[in-house]
Amino acid sequence: MERKLRVTVWNENVHERELAEVRAIYPDGIHGCIRQFLEAKGDMEVTCVTLDMPQQGITEELLANTDVLIWWSHARQEEITEQTSGLVKKHVLMGMGLIALHSAHYSRIMRELLGTGMTLHWRHDDFEKLWCVAPSHPIAKGIPACIEIPGEEMYGEYFDIPRPDDVVFIGSFSRGEVFRSGCTFERGYGKIFFFQPGHETCPTYHMPAVQDIIANAVRWAAPVNRLSKPLENCEETGLQRGDF
Ligand code: ZN
Repeated sequence: MERKLRVTVWNENVHERELAEVRAIYPDGIHGCIRQFLEAKGDMEVTCVTLDMPQQGITEELLANTDVLIWWSHARQEEITEQTSGLVKKHVLMGMGLIALHSAHYSRIMRELLGTGMTLHWRHDDFEKLWCVAPSHPIAKGIPACIEIPGEEMYGEYFDIPRPDDVVFIGSFSRGEVFRSGCTFERGYGKIFFFQPGHETCPTYHMPAVQDIIANAVRWAAPVNRLSKPLENCEETGLQRGDF
């Protein structure tokens, strides 16, 4: 049997500690909920880390042993250090997968990896229809054509991202707004999936279809070829493929 995918869930874990409303939905934190449903899939093992841990939960050793990193952040985006962001970026470029959830669109890591402003329009207290617009994509495997999310925050265009490799999902909202809710990117040897649903006061990560999307995204983002050290320019040969 193939070894399990090694998933690390990084969660800011601030709203869960500060707001009873959020704690009621995610008593073990958003990270605890994600760990539970991913481990139930059987083909992944999950480690959880949070912002309040030493080195903000991100170490060289952890990332070297992570196939796919899932990132949820919102209230403390500005506290992420250059060291933390730099380590994540280095490992993505070497082949580690990255899944950025919801407000992590504006994380330091996503801004540095994608290079644009990453801003969007938003409004609280809405419902969402999440339309699958790339049914042949691996992340869409087994996912319904439309998922109705009864409570979710509206994220609307214009979303200031670079042109994605694929848009797998488009969200639509009550006042007619639309949003590129599931987008893929490649950076270096690494794959990145941004997924919009998951506002902290909504039980979105308890929805089976949403859980299936995140599990599919983990499998898709797992490294194909992974470098053991960062690529360097090589003036003598002009090309360096790196060692896997
Ligand atoms: Zn939100």
